[in-house]
Amino acid sequence: MCRHLAYLGPSVSPAEPVSHAPHSLTVQSYAPKDMRGGGTVNADGFGVGWFAEDGYPTRYRRSGPIWTDAALDRLLQPVRAGAFLAAVRSATVGMPVSESACAPFADDDWLFSHNGVVLGWPESVAGLAADVPVVDLLRLDAPTDSALLWALLRRALRGGADPVAAVTGLVRTVAAAAPGSRLNLLLVGRTVLVATAWSHALSVRRHGDGVLVASEPCDDEPGWQPVAEGDLVVARVSENSRATTYEIESMVE
Ligand code: GLN
Repeated sequence: MCRHLAYLGPSVSPAEPVSHAPHSLTVQSYAPKDMRGGGTVNADGFGVGWFAEDGYPTRYRRSGPIWTDAALDRLLQPVRAGAFLAAVRSATVGMPVSESACAPFADDDWLFSHNGVVLGWPESVAGLAADVPVVDLLRLDAPTDSALLWALLRRALRGGADPVAAVTGLVRTVAAAAPGSRLNLLLVGRTVLVATAWSHALSVRRHGDGVLVASEPCDDEPGWQPVAEGDLVVARVSENSRATTYEIESMVE
């Protein structure tokens, strides 16, 4: 069920965890080690997003398997970014396979990914969407649970919510409305990264002076720390030094 990763810290190339590492996201797309909740490969598209030198997110998404994209490696090679997110998708049954259904979802300030499923979608969570402006619903990237989660989160962020509180609130609210849902979320901005472990695998480790989170460890380097069920990783970067720290909190009340 989808694999994703994200990084926050001093500028580095996304090519290492996405393509070059022994258990890179590309390897995880066809040989994942820790799929939970069904699915065997993640072949229904992929996306990579990063904060470019002008300070805004750039996205590259495609609807085919990541291993078939001959351009990707060379495209990422010269990229240097202090914040990036990448995902490979295994579409939930009944949801469309299209470029626009692939993470990252984005606006000018955030990159977002969802690994999992909202059970009973869309009826189970339709009530939660009542406060989302109709134009935002009409402009959903795709008719999928993940795109709706992004619309709900974006509404909270635009309303001035703290990103950690917004992500935690979204997980709790959706889990209450649709019990049994799998809600591993990734949210990355210029100076903060939030990652949840809610019924899917997640690991974290320092990556140089930055912080890398991934559904599965990308290599055998020491330092990978599994994130326990119900926990959330918060990494923050200081604007001046790009020194990055992270902590793990519980989302369970
Ligand atoms: N339900 C989401 C989708 O279909 C995410 C799928 C997944 O995590 N496998 O896009």
